[in-house]
Amino acid sequence: MGIHHITAIAGDPQRNLDFYAGILGLRLVKLTVNFDDPGSYHLYYGDEIGRPGSLLTFFPWPGGMPGRQGTGQIGTIGLEISATSLGFWIERLLSHGIKFEGPSRRFDEQVLGLSDPDGLLLELVATQGAAAIPPWSEGVLPQEHMIRGVHGATIWEDGDAGTDELLQQTLSFYPIGEDGGLLRFQSPGAGAGSTISLRRAAGFWRGSGGVGTVHHVAFRAVDDQEQVAKHAEIEARGLGITPVIDRQYFHSVYFREPGGVLFEIATDGPGFTIDEAAAELGTHLKLPPMYEASRLEIERVLPPLRLPHAPAPGAT
Ligand code: ZN
Repeated sequence: MGIHHITAIAGDPQRNLDFYAGILGLRLVKLTVNFDDPGSYHLYYGDEIGRPGSLLTFFPWPGGMPGRQGTGQIGTIGLEISATSLGFWIERLLSHGIKFEGPSRRFDEQVLGLSDPDGLLLELVATQGAAAIPPWSEGVLPQEHMIRGVHGATIWEDGDAGTDELLQQTLSFYPIGEDGGLLRFQSPGAGAGSTISLRRAAGFWRGSGGVGTVHHVAFRAVDDQEQVAKHAEIEARGLGITPVIDRQYFHSVYFREPGGVLFEIATDGPGFTIDEAAAELGTHLKLPPMYEASRLEIERVLPPLRLPHAPAPGAT
């Protein structure tokens, strides 16, 4: 079960959009609200149609308190680029005045470390396999250099809290080794979103949620049946898990893994074209049916956003 999406908390939504869509060149595939807090946005970035494994999403909380990175949290999000794109990205980051570390070698891959405008830790991971993942055909960056999706997530764990067993026994990950203080696990099958790394930092301070931290990571269920089966397995492990919640673009269940990170299992379907044509993804504020009647009030509360691909005035 590879990664479906990773969701983090941002500050200002425009700054988030300018960074992820503008500088990193991801496609805004859905502009909607936080279904649990419709007075704030939920921004989804991904590939051409927002395939599971390509998705990075944000709850922007303008003026929100910064979180603290520590154990019981996802510390770093890896984004996958092609092995031949390292030079392009070094030049791009330099030209935008974005500080980075590296490249450094880990698990036979070159890694550039950087932070987003809210201090969220990111890595651009250059892999041999990335070139086989199709890029967004209409993106602002040269296709061969585009980010292909999520490479993985690094969980900061306080010693051996039991995350390892859960990943292997319930989520079908298998260990592939240790490098640079990271234990790495891989999900069967190649493609985006297939790695989870554990950094065991016994006694390190505990993380707390807030701006610049990851809220949760979601793993893929191919369909509702697989989700039901996983729900039963997780419950049988004695972990509390929510009932299925309709997230419009996928169906979700949530639980806290033994180390404290919020995990979700999300179905591959129905996907982002359920309420918007593929060519128009991310160009309009979309609301789930339960909030459509309150659209005017919601639009009044949300801060205005300048979208990266807004049509020219007068265009239909
Ligand atoms: Zn989620």
